[in-house]
Amino acid sequence: MNSPFDVVIIGSGFGGAITARRLAEKGMRVLILERGRRWYPAHYPRQPGDPWIFSQRSPERHNGWLDMRFFRHMTIAQAAGVGGGSLTYSSVALEANPDVFRRGWPAEITHAELKPYYDTVAREMDLQVVPDGQLTARFKLAREAAHNLGYDDRFSKAALAVSFSEEWHGGLEDPFDPKHSKPFVNAHGERQGTCIHLGNCDIGCDVRAKNTLDVNYIPRAERHGADVRPLHVVRYIEPVDGKYRVVFDRIQDGQLIRGEEIAARVIVAAGSVGTTELLLRCRDEYRTLPALSPVLGMHWSPNANFLSMGRYPAEENRVSQSKGVTISSILDFTDGSFRNERFAIEDDGFPNVVLNALKASLDNQLVSAFANTLLEELEEHLRENYLLTDLMVWLGAGMDAADGRFHLQRRSFLSRDLELNLDWNAASSQGVLDAISEMQKNLTQATGGRWFTPPTWSLLKNLLTLHPLGGCRMGVSAHDGVVDHLGQVFGYPNLIVADGAIVPTSTGRNPSHTIAALAERIAAHVS
Ligand SMILES: Cc1cc2nc3c(=O)[nH]c(=O)nc-3n(C[C@H](O)[C@H](O)[C@H](O)COP(=O)(O)OP(=O)(O)OC[C@H]3O[C@@H](n4cnc5c(N)ncnc54)[C@H](O)[C@@H]3O)c2cc1C
Ligand code: SF4
Repeated sequence: MNSPFDVVIIGSGFGGAITARRLAEKGMRVLILERGRRWYPAHYPRQPGDPWIFSQRSPERHNGWLDMRFFRHMTIAQAAGVGGGSLTYSSVALEANPDVFRRGWPAEITHAELKPYYDTVAREMDLQVVPDGQLTARFKLAREAAHNLGYDDRFSKAALAVSFSEEWHGGLEDPFDPKHSKPFVNAHGERQGTCIHLGNCDIGCDVRAKNTLDVNYIPRAERHGADVRPLHVVRYIEPVDGKYRVVFDRIQDGQLIRGEEIAARVIVAAGSVGTTELLLRCRDEYRTLPALSPVLGMHWSPNANFLSMGRYPAEENRVSQSKGVTISSILDFTDGSFRNERFAIEDDGFPNVVLNALKASLDNQLVSAFANTLLEELEEHLRENYLLTDLMVWLGAGMDAADGRFHLQRRSFLSRDLELNLDWNAASSQGVLDAISEMQKNLTQATGGRWFTPPTWSLLKNLLTLHPLGGCRMGVSAHDGVVDHLGQVFGYPNLIVADGAIVPTSTGRNPSHTIAALAERIAAHVS
């Protein structure tokens, strides 16, 4: 059976973009199928009616920026578009603490093994830290909090995939005017500009200062012949004559148009939730991949994401919430020195991307009654004027129990439709969540702020994660994993998973750099 492609890659986030580039460089004919749009600054969502949301259930009508999934005790935010999570992420790129790999990971993967790949990604994504003359108010507040508590040695600037110019500073006339962004052509031949601290990192950088995958790995892949097709939602994968058929719906003019491509090799890189859902449907709904491991869906982790807030007197002007890169510092306890739990805390910009997507979901009646309650509670709490200027957001990430379980279940008693469901319960991760919230409270109080947790947690015990991990974890055999240490799916030769779904534990610190390093390693072994 002739096919124009050697490999079909599903998804264009960290796993998809990196494997696409590397395999295209090896001379393979690569096709990327990405469910979201190809975004350009002129089209980023900004106003209430803009395309904020992507709905996996009705992508022909809702194919916007963020895909929010609402489960009983967990809300998951993830990107949709060419470049995947790099479009929405806060650009923080950190290696995991070497201890992370000691338990739950295949023996082949250690920090030393991943280090050359971490370094490669750091070079390609051109990681930088905020110059001293551009420290944000939030950075300074977090640094003061760490100092007051005696944690100076744990506090540092976070490595960011952002391009800075030493010449920018807040004292410039009209400092946030795009005229202060210096245009340049990056090492991949793409036009970018330097950061002018607009604070829009999670909703699309207007001056292209973020070093997102669509200005490095993806154009490199395209220069080697890769074909990138946005607005292609993959539905299932089916073995056929020693190859794989990938069946998708193409979004065009508000319609879904069925299509398919065949290749000898398929790389699934649709992210922790996307990949897990796709493979669960292949095993349990379409039954095209019936021999997938029984472990599929299990060992899912929200990377112990925990957000809380500190409110500061308006007259002190200490937070300047919406100004500056979204995150720029890290306070690290991943050595387990606080309450024996491993976690890190960062100064976060206000998650306007999440609120906007939540509102859009509500307006379009895309959320359950439960999610509706979440939004109302959140809005109630955030309605006042102090929001943008005086509210500090602390983002915690840490090592949790990684015991969530995705599965398909009928939408209702009478329905035949299967929908994705998540069993996750805070109880087994309570230790790390308590440690993070206690530290966030200490940091707020050490700087004279008033601390509170969002009612989504205090009242409803529902967490929001930006760092979904696992669901198709690496293991030694199909008894304890879905894929091996190279992402190869047990039982299906040349079917590979190369994204956050294969990560078998939390990463503690932000996960994208580890996912990227794993993808580089997987690609290096494909021949
Ligand atoms: C607001 C926000 C801020 C974040 N900040 C940070 C940060 O600062 N640092 C950090 O390390 N991490 C951060 N993250 C998390 C980070 O974005 C993810 O960990 C990372 O993107 C995961 O990479 P991935 O390759 O596994 O999947 P993704 O990057 O999510 O890529 C998966 C791609 O597959 C596509 N896809 C899914 N299903 C299908 C399908 N059926 N057919 C076709 N395509 C499909 C998706 O549209 C997406 O483009 C943040 C996330 C969010 C939402
Ligand atoms: S702060 Fe503004 S200019 Fe800088 S990276 Fe973020 S969105 Fe771009």
